[in-house]
Amino acid sequence: MDFDLNRVRLNVRESSTEDLLDRATVYRAGIEQEALALILEELRSRGYSAASVVQHEQTRAGVLCDDSGTAMVCVRCPKPAVVQQWVWHRLFGKVPLFPRYAYLCEDHRTPAENEELPPPQSAG
Ligand SMILES: [Zn+2]
Repeated sequence: MDFDLNRVRLNVRESSTEDLLDRATVYRAGIEQEALALILEELRSRGYSAASVVQHEQTRAGVLCDDSGTAMVCVRCPKPAVVQQWVWHRLFGKVPLFPRYAYLCEDHRTPAENEELPPPQSAG
């Protein structure tokens, strides 16, 4: 697989601290070692110690992961997902087309009482 370290370095510099903390913790399993090193280096330069990275990981304890241990990403932002819920797929972000079962973070999940449909049948 092509891995452009310079592109990653630029991306890391432009990313928010919260995004980097997520990548160094819950998304770590899906990240190349070289990229992870850049992320940790950038976090250090922003004043985040290894201990504060661990502390951040503890705040993300409820995230949903795939089989590799990588956190699922919210469909509406880069944050890790904590629930799977039905959301409307909207045309141009406005017209509701069809509901889909999607991953959502703490900020974008809807309260449980708004859930009207049961989860889809699991394929296994
Ligand atoms: Zn979100």
